Order: sequence, then structure tokens, then C-alpha cells
Amino acid sequence: MILILKSTATRDDISDLKSRFEGRGLRPVIMEGAEKVAVGIIGETRSHLPADQIQALPYVEAIRRVSDPYKLANRVFHPEDTVVNAGGAKVGGGHFALMAGPCSIESREQIIEVAQAVKAAGATMLRGGAFKPRTSPYDFQGLRDEGLKLMLEAKRETGLPIVTEIMSIDHLALFEDVDMIQVGARSMQNFEMLKELGKTKKPILLKRGMCATIKEFLMAAEYIMASGNDQIVLCERGIRTYETATRNTLDLSCIPVLHERTHLPVVIDPSHATGVARYVPSMAAAAAAAGADGLMIEVHNNPAAALCDGPQSLTPDVFADVVRTVKTIRNAIRMKDAPKPISVETVIRACAS
Ligand code: PEP
Ligand code: MN
Repeated sequence: MILILKSTATRDDISDLKSRFEGRGLRPVIMEGAEKVAVGIIGETRSHLPADQIQALPYVEAIRRVSDPYKLANRVFHPEDTVVNAGGAKVGGGHFALMAGPCSIESREQIIEVAQAVKAAGATMLRGGAFKPRTSPYDFQGLRDEGLKLMLEAKRETGLPIVTEIMSIDHLALFEDVDMIQVGARSMQNFEMLKELGKTKKPILLKRGMCATIKEFLMAAEYIMASGNDQIVLCERGIRTYETATRNTLDLSCIPVLHERTHLPVVIDPSHATGVARYVPSMAAAAAAAGADGLMIEVHNNPAAALCDGPQSLTPDVFADVVRTVKTIRNAIRMKDAPKPISVETVIRACAS
């Protein structure tokens, strides 16, 4: 529910309003516009908040119910872009992230060499899996704890913040020095894990489930936010369709849709989306042109020998080319066609109409 207060509403009126909600277990979010204040109410408003009682308050001008089930993630309750800060690497609100690295950490030499190469090419974060969600139990499962140690070594060596996947909340203690915890596509609806990650203050990279709608994707983010963590980056990595020419189907239209619906940053992973290294550069360029807040790209120093996802991994040289192209595109589109966050005024106008 969103309330628009009359332009004559005072600070005391706002405090009065807040105390009415907080007493009922609801969370008010105050959004100050140039002339009026909008108050978003998060929680089960239907049974706890009779609309006629609220409408009767002398300082309330209008009420609008928000039917979207995601509230904390919803742009209407938080018009400005969220900027996520992972160990100094910012994502969102005009900050572009370039997360790059191997699918999985394979050895000390491999991860350090790739980390140095992607840093030199302009990456802002190092990616790499220690715990790998493999479709077959007979495939390489990742170096697990040992892999995480090597990842931390690569972080110390290069200064790049790191992002790596968690597969079980039992491993959380191992992620203490990890800058951004990845929730993989297969875990997007592991609600118990999302709730626990919500209790941490760690930035989370939430990947879209391969069969998840945008609404389900946002509800997964809502789980993390409802537990107290709003440092979330959404990552589109392709969804499953009837098409088999690519590993998945990259849903680039999710970029404007998500920007409209949520204030959370949106990053595109063209590697898992296409599954083919030669298709990655054009999709990375398209994502930048469509206003993505970043890219996650798999890079390997020897893709032919990679233990996981070699066919979709770029060499460091190709990755460096992608970075140059993406920077050119971002400069070219800046910023007339870039998505704009909606303002508190837009929210107020929408509620008044
Ligand atoms: C990954 O990024 O290593 C990964 C396994 O991706 P996804 O969860 O998108 O399949
Ligand atoms: Mn991979």
C-alpha cells in the first residue's frame, strides 16, 4: 500500500503515521518528493490496515494498493537505483561491473593467471566457482574449501574483489572474506538458504532460475530482502526454451522490465546464456546497449583444457576486446536512452490518478 500525504502534512503527522504502522508489525518507508511525501507500507496490509481508517486521517490525501507481491524489491517503494558495493566494486546507479574469471577454480596457477589477465583487461571483480553445481555427479565438482582458499589468494594477489557460489548454507562460515556470494540458477528458490543469506550483510549475486519468471526472480530477491539484506544484484543467465542452438535463451528484454519494476542492479551473464564462446561478445555488447549494470563473463587461460564450461569461455585477449567494445557502447548511449529510475513524483502522480 502507498499513501500520499497532503502537502500540508507535518513531521508530527509523519511520526504519528509511523507509530500506527509499526504497532501492527508493518514497515513504513518514507519517500520525500519535492512537494509531497509518499509512504509505502510493507507487510500484510489487507488484514491489518483497514483502508477507510487510514483514508480518514486528516493528513492523508490518497491511498493506492500495490498488487505486486514483491514490495522491498519494488521500484515504487524505492525510486532510486540501489548501488551494491562489493569490496569497493560498485554495481548499479551508473556503476558498471565487469565480473570475469573461470567457471571453476582449478589450480593456484590457473586462478592467479586468469585473475591477473582479467584485471589487466579491466575487470572490476574476479569470478570463479569452488563449489560447482554440476548436472552429473561424475563431473568435476570443484575444489571446494581448497578452491576458496585459492580464490582468496588471487584476491590478495590482484586486489580484485571476488564473487563465488554458495551451494549449502552449512558452508557460510567459509565465505567470510568473499566479497559477493553467488546464488546459482539452481538455488534461486532454495528459500531456506535465501532467508539465511538475508541475515548476512554480504552482497548477493542472485542468478535467475532457468525456468523462473521475472516475478519469481523478484520474489527470490524479496526473500533475501525480507530477512534484512538489500545488497542484491540480479543476474540473467538465460532461460530454458524450446531452442537448442544455444545452451539457454538470453532474455535481454528482462533488462528494461527489471529496471522498471525494481531498483536492484541487473547484470547479464552471456556465457551461460549462450554456451558458445563466439556468441558471447555480441551478447555482451547488446546487454551493455540495453542498459545492463554489468556483465559476468567466463574467461579461461586455456579454454580447451578447462575442467568446466571450456566451450563458452573466452580467452583473456577476447575478453579485453569485449571490455573495449562495451566501454565504447556505454559512452555512445550515455545517457539519453538509458533507463531512468522513476521519481517519487512519478509514484505520487500514479497514485493520484
Ligand atoms: C556459474 O556461474 O558458475 C553457474 C553455475 O551459473 P548458473 O547458476 O547460472 O548455471
Ligand atoms: Mn560455468
